[in-house]
Amino acid sequence: MEREVLEFDVQFVGAGPAGLAGAIHLANLIEKHNEAIAAGGPGEAIGETNIAVLEKSAEVGAHGFSGAVMDPRGMRELMPDFVEKGCPLAAEVTGDDVYILSENGQFKLPFLPPVLHNHGSYIVSLGDLTRWMAGIAEEKGVLIATETPAQTPLLENGRLLGVRTGDKGVNKSGERKGTYMMGADALAKATVLCEGPRGTITKQLESALGLTKNSDPQNYATGVKELWEVPAGQAKKGAVIHTMNWPLKSDTFGGGFIYGLSDTLWAVGFATGLDASDPTSDPHGNLQRFKTHPLVRKLLEGGKPIAYGAKAIPEGGWYAMPKLSADGMLLAGDAGGFLNGGRLKGIHLAIKSGMLAAETLFECLEASDFSAAKLATYETRVAQSWAAEELKSMRNFHQAFDGGLWQALPRTGFQMYMGGRDPFGDHLKGHAPHTKVRKLRDVHPGGKPEPMKFDGKLTFDKLADVYLSGTMHEEDQPVHLVVADTSVCATKCREEYGNPCQHFCPAAVYEMVPDESKPGALQLRINASNCVHCKTCDIADPYQIITWTTPEGGGGPNYKQL
Ligand code: SF4
Repeated sequence: MEREVLEFDVQFVGAGPAGLAGAIHLANLIEKHNEAIAAGGPGEAIGETNIAVLEKSAEVGAHGFSGAVMDPRGMRELMPDFVEKGCPLAAEVTGDDVYILSENGQFKLPFLPPVLHNHGSYIVSLGDLTRWMAGIAEEKGVLIATETPAQTPLLENGRLLGVRTGDKGVNKSGERKGTYMMGADALAKATVLCEGPRGTITKQLESALGLTKNSDPQNYATGVKELWEVPAGQAKKGAVIHTMNWPLKSDTFGGGFIYGLSDTLWAVGFATGLDASDPTSDPHGNLQRFKTHPLVRKLLEGGKPIAYGAKAIPEGGWYAMPKLSADGMLLAGDAGGFLNGGRLKGIHLAIKSGMLAAETLFECLEASDFSAAKLATYETRVAQSWAAEELKSMRNFHQAFDGGLWQALPRTGFQMYMGGRDPFGDHLKGHAPHTKVRKLRDVHPGGKPEPMKFDGKLTFDKLADVYLSGTMHEEDQPVHLVVADTSVCATKCREEYGNPCQHFCPAAVYEMVPDESKPGALQLRINASNCVHCKTCDIADPYQIITWTTPEGGGGPNYKQL
């Protein structure tokens, strides 16, 4: 069997907002340019250009997950008439509230810092948004290849030639089944990686090409969300509520969010910093506890969850962004760290980064020059854009939480009025989340806390929530969570950290079960088919021995309205 070779002019890896905005904008720029030439303008027309977007999910949007409140700035630049064109906007934001919670109480902030004002923004489902954007891209001739996971970078002398996509029809033992289909080599003059947080190709290239050697380590939180259907009138369309503190301890970064999509739908979510010191920190459990707070409970009364999802969020900010270009490639969206943690927003930045990538690639096409130097003009474009200005203004935001919430509040307030400068310096060093986790005995000297009990009405265990995510994988395929040395799980990790993978994974993928061959011993069981592709394990494992690899194309969550 010969490997198929696909050749594109430009390919985007990942059909999220960055990749789709990039593809649409590039097609628009070429069309406009050629129209101007046809009308007698100077220069030469650009010939037929093959633009492709590779996407691992079965349909665009199925893996799309975000809060989400969208600042329309990016979308407005991409498509000034996005509202008239039918962009799926669930609601325009009508009100902003921020609460500091204690277990049974709450304190509403009497005024909000400007960065937390959401007036003029829209509550959206990222899945719906990207489905709509994909339709527009296709109308412009962009090829959207779903069920096409980019698995391996194709590097030659330091230049990215393209990506190899995953095989189909391989069984658990790695043997070819009757349905075997060899993955293809997707080659392009330039590849834009916009795979989301901790992207598979991005991670491999970060080390191969040294993209992060001058950046601070990227930091992450994991966002977990349920969509709740409640009796008519109980949800408030356009309402935006954010919370801090409980159920987290004040030393853990994160908080809750509740967004009103309609008068019957609440998006209820919780983000937990993966730099939590507690090895039993559990992003899914934090969402369940959050819902039991009287403030949240009353909003959900009489309702039921209809969807669930989770995703890692790059929180490191400006200083944690990797080098955004290299020979043959650009980075955009979450893969490039385009997320404003202080504003809890990234969609507008992802769109802008995709557009800046498109403008760079348009110039490359015009000049027939895809050299590393030409591609590197993307970095200048980013640096001169409002996206950089916004990210720089929050450049020390996450780092201020290293000392806990109570000292972060005045410090981040100071930063907001000082253009991002912190009282303790202009560049506070970031850290990789896994370096912050402490030994179990130091955090819980008396042993692990009692596991939470779920009532099946307001609170749900991970498996019930995975069911709501629509997650499906072909069962007979190699396990896509690769643990380099499982003996570490059974010995060192069990002893030192109490196997935190059982807690941080929001989909009950990792379980320590009795090892029949050794009385009293435990061994790791990986329920790979539950995986919702959030990437938390790849990031948070204290020994950094878990690698999330791409499962067979089309597998994973089937998010609806998330
Ligand atoms: Fe997320 Fe990893 Fe669990 Fe999959 S296995 S759901 S990527 S933490």
